[in-house]
Amino acid sequence: LIIPNWTEFCAQMTTIYNECSTISDGKVATYIPQLARVSPNIWGMSICTIDGQRFSLGDSNTPFCVQSVSKAFNYAIVSSDVGSDKVHQYVGHEPSGRLFNEICLDGNGKPHNPMINAGAIIMTSLIRNDLDMADRFEFVLNEYKKMAGGEFIGFNNATFVSERATADRNYALSYYMKENKCFPPGTRALRDELDLYFQLCSVEATCESAAVMAATLANGGVCPLTDEVCINSQPCRDVLSLMYSCGMYDFSGKFAFQVGLPAKSGVSGVMIVVVPNLMGIALFSPPLDRMGNSCKGVAFCKKLIEKFNFHNYDSL
Ligand code: GLU
Repeated sequence: LIIPNWTEFCAQMTTIYNECSTISDGKVATYIPQLARVSPNIWGMSICTIDGQRFSLGDSNTPFCVQSVSKAFNYAIVSSDVGSDKVHQYVGHEPSGRLFNEICLDGNGKPHNPMINAGAIIMTSLIRNDLDMADRFEFVLNEYKKMAGGEFIGFNNATFVSERATADRNYALSYYMKENKCFPPGTRALRDELDLYFQLCSVEATCESAAVMAATLANGGVCPLTDEVCINSQPCRDVLSLMYSCGMYDFSGKFAFQVGLPAKSGVSGVMIVVVPNLMGIALFSPPLDRMGNSCKGVAFCKKLIEKFNFHNYDSL
């Protein structure tokens, strides 16, 4: 077993989870009613190790929209499908140092990285653009399900419709990128590409299923429950590198400094954290800090690093 003293480990996780339960900071996102209506008290945590040991606490079976966590998975799926070289013809590797939805490109006229909206919209446009729209969505959904080892993956249509109805910024961003010839050949109408982007933000998971997806990344792209290869090994390394440098909005640098683990958060209050070669963690608590990350989620990670030597540079 990769974690031999499982009972003791789970006891420590329970302590951390309980300590975080008392945190009442942060505000639930309100830009669409589907997020505004979610209870701020939901608090779930789930762990899946690379050898399939599972441990969950709290609201670990409550569905949430993956929102920006989809950006990490979509990048990994596209890179696995078309190769890293092709993907990086259209997107950079650098933290932008700007807001996640800012209208800006890097010095080469590309989006800075695939974890911000600009880069993520371009990644969406690279997803199987040989297929029709319904099949493209189904393709990604199936890839998510593979990574989740067949566990819960849903779709929240109300969120999709709301996202689409409040999409001015993402349209502005996309037209700006179109003007600057950022999109690959074969890109459909922006309306179609953005619909797919919003649909993938509106995919639902639970802490349980998201932890398995994170564990698949921790395990080099192989799902620990099914042994199925979901992501090739280089794209898996690539997505973890970019999650490390760009996964936590404008807190990414400090998170890498303090926690030292690849992670990705979303506006619903979800966070996935990867301890490479060990485990995936999914955390869900809707109240967000000013950077847009889950308050309880970030606190959990800091406490985790106080107790365990999981920081990338703890082993020195
Ligand atoms: N649906 C959001 C947007 O594209 C994603 C927000 C997020 O999780 O960062 O604006």
